[in-house]
Amino acid sequence: MQEVIAKFIELQKLEDEIIEAQKVLTEGPEKLAASQERLDQVTSAHDEVAAGLKEARAKLKELELDLLSLKELMDGNHARSTRATGERSYRAVLDELEIIKKRMAENEDGTLEFMEKQDSLKAALPAAEELLKEAQETHAALAREVNADMERAGAAIDVRRASIDAMLATIDPAAAERFVASARAHGGRAMAAVTGGTCQVCRLRIPPQLYNELQSHSKIMTCPSCARIMHFVAPQPKAEEPPKEKKARKPRRSAEG
Ligand SMILES: [Zn+2]
Repeated sequence: MQEVIAKFIELQKLEDEIIEAQKVLTEGPEKLAASQERLDQVTSAHDEVAAGLKEARAKLKELELDLLSLKELMDGNHARSTRATGERSYRAVLDELEIIKKRMAENEDGTLEFMEKQDSLKAALPAAEELLKEAQETHAALAREVNADMERAGAAIDVRRASIDAMLATIDPAAAERFVASARAHGGRAMAAVTGGTCQVCRLRIPPQLYNELQSHSKIMTCPSCARIMHFVAPQPKAEEPPKEKKARKPRRSAEG
């Protein structure tokens, strides 16, 4: 039975490697999603600057056209003022002139505002473009790396599953089935090392009689608490601490002196 247990331990190593590889397969898409999220943020920050700049340019164009038509109105108004007869019509021309002047002043304010906006966005655009380029490159590099890791992990899992099947075929079918069942029940962690009388997975103190039996390797035994197949691992002898050098202590002065 000791031989079967030894094979179980080998099988467990393969299962552990599969668990590690599966972690890569689980974490890969998470890493990609996080990276994509960062890229999306940088992209939208860039797009905001670019869109703002486009809007400022369009607004300035609009103000420019508006100014032209105001100037035309102003010219027409001048022409009418020279032809105006009577106070009422002259007053009307003057009122209209005031309105045009007001609109021109507003146009000037708007033009200044959007020119400033345009200038600051123009200044910010190269940095935003640079950041976007960097983020795109970083994301592409990460995606290549993650995809390669996942491909390797997938292949590693296939190889190990094949090794497990081959090894299981060399074990008594009933014993093999116990390993398979325990692995299935515990997410691949079929075995529990027992050291110093304690299950290293669930920390249960194994009853002494059971512990003695376990050390005899006479049969397949499962932990009474976590139900994994137990295997005995001799406690590591504690690393001996180097003997402390006894230093001659300086005589302490007493408080009284
Ligand atoms: Zn246990």
